[in-house]
Amino acid sequence: MRIDKLLANMGYGTRKEVKNLLKGGNVRVNGQAERSAKTHVDPHSDLVTVLGETVEYREFIYLMLNKPGDVLSATEDAHDLTVIDILQPEDLVFQPFPIGRLDKDTEGLLLITNDGQLSHRLTSPKKDIGKTYFAHIDGEVTDEDIESFSKGVMLDDGYVTKPAKLDIITQGEQSEIELTITEGKFHQVKRMFESVGKKVTYLKRLSIGGLDLDNDLGLGEYRELQEEELNYLF
Ligand code: URA
Repeated sequence: MRIDKLLANMGYGTRKEVKNLLKGGNVRVNGQAERSAKTHVDPHSDLVTVLGETVEYREFIYLMLNKPGDVLSATEDAHDLTVIDILQPEDLVFQPFPIGRLDKDTEGLLLITNDGQLSHRLTSPKKDIGKTYFAHIDGEVTDEDIESFSKGVMLDDGYVTKPAKLDIITQGEQSEIELTITEGKFHQVKRMFESVGKKVTYLKRLSIGGLDLDNDLGLGEYRELQEEELNYLF
Protein backbone atom coordinates (compact mmCIF):
# COMPACT_ATOMS: atom_id res chain seq x y z
CA MET A 1 0.00 0.00 0.00
CA ARG A 2 1.10 3.61 -0.50
CA ILE A 3 3.12 4.92 2.40
CA ASP A 4 1.09 8.13 2.70
CA LYS A 5 -2.11 6.08 2.99
CA LEU A 6 -0.56 3.80 5.60
CA LEU A 7 0.61 6.72 7.73
CA ALA A 8 -2.66 8.62 7.39
CA ASN A 9 -4.61 5.47 8.34
CA MET A 10 -2.43 4.97 11.38
CA GLY A 11 -3.22 8.48 12.59
CA TYR A 12 -0.08 10.38 11.58
CA GLY A 13 -2.13 13.20 10.07
CA THR A 14 -3.95 14.02 6.87
CA ARG A 15 -2.47 12.91 3.54
CA LYS A 16 -1.03 16.46 3.21
CA GLU A 17 0.50 16.45 6.69
CA VAL A 18 1.96 13.01 6.03
CA LYS A 19 3.47 14.26 2.76
CA ASN A 20 5.24 17.01 4.70
CA LEU A 21 6.51 14.50 7.26
CA LEU A 22 7.95 12.46 4.40
CA LYS A 23 9.44 15.50 2.65
CA GLY A 24 11.13 16.49 5.90
CA GLY A 25 12.99 13.16 5.97
CA ASN A 26 11.17 12.02 9.13
CA VAL A 27 10.04 8.66 7.79
CA ARG A 28 12.25 5.60 7.33
CA VAL A 29 11.48 2.32 5.62
CA ASN A 30 13.76 -0.50 6.73
CA GLY A 31 16.21 2.11 7.97
CA GLN A 32 16.31 4.22 4.78
CA ALA A 33 14.82 7.71 4.73
CA GLU A 34 11.82 7.73 2.40
CA ARG A 35 10.62 11.06 1.02
CA SER A 36 8.09 10.10 -1.64
CA ALA A 37 4.41 9.79 -0.75
CA LYS A 38 3.91 7.45 -3.69
CA THR A 39 6.27 4.75 -2.44
CA HIS A 40 4.61 1.40 -1.79
CA VAL A 41 5.33 -0.56 1.37
CA ASP A 42 4.20 -3.91 2.68
CA PRO A 43 2.77 -3.03 6.10
CA HIS A 44 3.28 -6.61 7.32
CA SER A 45 6.94 -7.03 6.42
CA ASP A 46 8.49 -3.55 6.03
CA LEU A 47 9.65 -1.70 9.13
CA VAL A 48 8.30 1.83 8.92
CA THR A 49 9.34 4.43 11.49
CA VAL A 50 8.30 8.05 12.01
CA LEU A 51 10.78 10.15 13.98
CA GLY A 52 12.28 6.90 15.25
CA GLU A 53 8.95 5.46 16.42
CA THR A 54 7.84 2.18 14.84
CA VAL A 55 4.52 2.39 13.04
CA GLU A 56 2.31 -0.44 14.32
CA TYR A 57 0.10 -1.33 11.40
CA ARG A 58 -3.32 -2.77 11.90
CA GLU A 59 -6.12 -3.02 9.47
CA PHE A 60 -9.11 -3.41 11.75
CA ILE A 61 -10.55 -1.72 14.77
CA TYR A 62 -13.10 -3.30 17.13
CA LEU A 63 -14.88 -1.06 19.61
CA MET A 64 -17.48 -1.75 22.29
CA LEU A 65 -19.75 1.25 22.93
CA ASN A 66 -22.31 1.70 25.67
CA LYS A 67 -24.75 3.46 23.39
CA PRO A 68 -26.73 6.30 24.94
CA GLY A 69 -30.43 6.61 24.21
CA ASP A 70 -30.13 9.79 22.16
CA VAL A 71 -27.77 8.87 19.31
CA LEU A 72 -28.46 7.04 16.07
CA SER A 73 -26.84 3.71 15.07
CA ALA A 74 -25.69 5.11 11.75
CA THR A 75 -22.52 6.56 10.29
CA GLU A 76 -24.01 9.94 9.43
CA ASP A 77 -27.27 11.79 9.70
CA ALA A 78 -28.44 15.25 8.74
CA HIS A 79 -30.31 15.89 12.01
CA ASP A 80 -29.15 13.59 14.79
CA LEU A 81 -25.84 12.78 16.40
CA THR A 82 -24.65 9.32 15.36
CA VAL A 83 -22.57 6.73 17.20
CA ILE A 84 -19.70 7.60 14.84
CA ASP A 85 -19.94 11.32 15.70
CA ILE A 86 -19.14 10.52 19.34
CA LEU A 87 -15.87 8.65 18.59
CA GLN A 88 -12.41 10.15 19.02
CA PRO A 89 -10.68 11.45 15.84
CA GLU A 90 -7.89 8.83 16.10
CA ASP A 91 -10.50 6.07 15.73
CA LEU A 92 -12.21 7.72 12.76
CA VAL A 93 -9.19 7.13 10.51
CA PHE A 94 -10.30 3.47 10.38
CA GLN A 95 -13.64 4.52 8.88
CA PRO A 96 -15.64 2.48 11.36
CA PHE A 97 -19.35 1.71 11.23
CA PRO A 98 -21.80 0.15 13.69
CA ILE A 99 -22.59 -3.57 13.44
CA GLY A 100 -26.35 -3.76 13.07
CA ARG A 101 -28.71 -1.28 14.60
CA LEU A 102 -30.20 -0.39 17.91
CA ASP A 103 -33.17 1.96 17.99
CA LYS A 104 -32.31 5.55 18.81
CA ASP A 105 -33.80 5.20 22.31
CA THR A 106 -32.14 1.83 23.02
CA GLU A 107 -29.04 1.85 25.20
CA GLY A 108 -26.23 -0.61 25.66
CA LEU A 109 -23.83 -2.82 23.77
CA LEU A 110 -23.07 -1.73 20.24
CA LEU A 111 -20.06 -3.00 18.35
CA ILE A 112 -18.31 -0.64 15.98
CA THR A 113 -15.72 -1.84 13.49
CA ASN A 114 -14.36 -1.54 9.97
CA ASP A 115 -14.29 -5.33 9.57
CA GLY A 116 -17.01 -6.06 7.02
CA GLN A 117 -16.68 -9.82 7.40
CA LEU A 118 -17.30 -9.76 11.14
CA SER A 119 -20.22 -7.42 10.65
CA HIS A 120 -21.72 -9.76 8.07
CA ARG A 121 -21.21 -12.78 10.32
CA LEU A 122 -22.86 -11.16 13.33
CA THR A 123 -25.84 -9.80 11.44
CA SER A 124 -26.48 -12.81 9.20
CA PRO A 125 -29.87 -14.31 10.09
CA LYS A 126 -28.41 -17.78 9.40
CA LYS A 127 -25.94 -17.63 12.27
CA ASP A 128 -28.35 -17.68 15.21
CA ILE A 129 -26.21 -15.44 17.39
CA GLY A 130 -27.97 -14.68 20.66
CA LYS A 131 -28.48 -11.08 21.74
CA THR A 132 -29.66 -10.43 25.27
CA TYR A 133 -31.66 -7.36 26.26
CA PHE A 134 -32.78 -5.97 29.59
CA ALA A 135 -36.10 -4.15 29.50
CA HIS A 136 -38.69 -2.37 31.61
CA ILE A 137 -42.17 -3.42 30.62
CA ASP A 138 -45.38 -1.56 31.26
CA GLY A 139 -47.61 -4.46 32.30
CA GLU A 140 -47.24 -7.71 34.18
CA VAL A 141 -45.06 -10.22 32.34
CA THR A 142 -46.31 -13.72 33.02
CA ASP A 143 -45.27 -17.36 32.72
CA GLU A 144 -47.57 -17.51 29.69
CA ASP A 145 -45.42 -14.88 28.00
CA ILE A 146 -42.33 -17.01 28.72
CA GLU A 147 -44.10 -19.93 27.08
CA SER A 148 -45.29 -17.87 24.08
CA PHE A 149 -41.84 -16.38 23.47
CA SER A 150 -40.21 -19.82 23.71
CA LYS A 151 -42.51 -21.04 20.93
CA GLY A 152 -42.46 -17.87 18.82
CA VAL A 153 -44.98 -15.04 18.63
CA MET A 154 -46.60 -13.43 15.61
CA LEU A 155 -45.55 -9.83 14.98
CA ASP A 156 -47.84 -7.17 13.50
CA ASP A 157 -46.70 -8.03 9.96
CA GLY A 158 -47.46 -11.75 10.33
CA TYR A 159 -43.86 -12.80 10.91
CA VAL A 160 -43.48 -15.54 13.54
CA THR A 161 -40.37 -15.07 15.68
CA LYS A 162 -37.86 -17.83 16.36
CA PRO A 163 -37.83 -19.29 19.88
CA ALA A 164 -36.62 -16.73 22.40
CA LYS A 165 -35.69 -17.02 26.08
CA LEU A 166 -37.57 -14.72 28.44
CA ASP A 167 -36.58 -14.35 32.10
CA ILE A 168 -38.62 -12.32 34.53
CA ILE A 169 -36.40 -10.31 36.87
CA THR A 170 -39.14 -8.35 38.65
CA GLN A 171 -42.81 -9.17 38.25
CA GLY A 172 -45.52 -6.58 38.80
CA GLU A 173 -47.48 -3.92 36.96
CA GLN A 174 -44.11 -2.63 35.88
CA SER A 175 -41.94 -5.64 35.12
CA GLU A 176 -38.23 -6.03 34.50
CA ILE A 177 -37.10 -8.77 32.17
CA GLU A 178 -34.19 -10.20 30.21
CA LEU A 179 -34.85 -11.52 26.74
CA THR A 180 -32.49 -13.40 24.42
CA ILE A 181 -33.32 -13.43 20.72
CA THR A 182 -31.33 -14.83 17.83
CA GLU A 183 -32.62 -12.54 15.10
CA GLY A 184 -32.80 -8.82 14.56
CA LYS A 185 -36.09 -7.83 12.98
CA PHE A 186 -36.96 -4.13 13.03
CA HIS A 187 -38.00 -3.11 16.60
CA GLN A 188 -38.11 -6.82 17.40
CA VAL A 189 -38.18 -6.73 21.20
CA LYS A 190 -40.72 -3.92 21.30
CA ARG A 191 -42.94 -5.69 18.76
CA MET A 192 -42.70 -9.03 20.58
CA PHE A 193 -44.06 -7.41 23.72
CA GLU A 194 -46.73 -5.59 21.71
CA SER A 195 -47.86 -8.99 20.43
CA VAL A 196 -48.69 -9.98 24.03
CA GLY A 197 -50.29 -6.61 24.80
CA LYS A 198 -47.39 -5.00 26.69
CA LYS A 199 -45.14 -2.03 26.13
CA VAL A 200 -41.37 -1.75 26.41
CA THR A 201 -40.56 1.51 28.20
CA TYR A 202 -36.78 1.06 28.47
CA LEU A 203 -34.45 -1.18 26.48
CA LYS A 204 -30.77 -1.93 26.87
CA ARG A 205 -28.65 -4.55 25.09
CA LEU A 206 -26.49 -6.51 27.50
CA SER A 207 -24.67 -9.00 25.27
CA ILE A 208 -24.02 -10.33 21.79
CA GLY A 209 -22.96 -13.96 21.51
CA GLY A 210 -20.59 -14.57 24.41
CA LEU A 211 -19.63 -10.90 24.67
CA ASP A 212 -21.04 -8.86 27.57
CA LEU A 213 -21.21 -5.10 27.83
CA ASP A 214 -18.44 -3.86 30.14
CA ASN A 215 -20.27 -2.46 33.20
CA ASP A 216 -17.47 0.07 33.73
CA LEU A 217 -18.47 1.89 30.54
CA GLY A 218 -20.81 4.78 31.23
CA LEU A 219 -23.33 5.83 28.60
CA GLY A 220 -21.47 7.17 25.57
CA GLU A 221 -18.17 5.60 26.66
CA TYR A 222 -16.35 3.02 24.60
CA ARG A 223 -13.19 0.99 24.48
CA GLU A 224 -11.39 -1.43 22.20
CA LEU A 225 -12.25 -5.11 22.48
CA GLN A 226 -9.63 -7.28 24.10
CA GLU A 227 -8.25 -10.22 22.16
CA GLU A 228 -10.16 -12.81 24.20
CA GLU A 229 -13.40 -10.86 23.75
CA LEU A 230 -12.85 -10.89 20.01
CA ASN A 231 -12.46 -14.66 20.16
CA TYR A 232 -16.02 -14.90 21.48
CA LEU A 233 -17.22 -13.30 18.28
CA PHE A 234 -15.16 -15.11 15.66
N1 URA B 1 -35.39 -4.63 19.59
C1 URA B 1 -35.96 -3.42 19.60
O1 URA B 1 -37.17 -3.29 19.66
N2 URA B 1 -35.15 -2.34 19.54
C2 URA B 1 -33.80 -2.42 19.53
O2 URA B 1 -33.12 -1.39 19.50
C3 URA B 1 -33.22 -3.69 19.53
C4 URA B 1 -34.04 -4.79 19.56
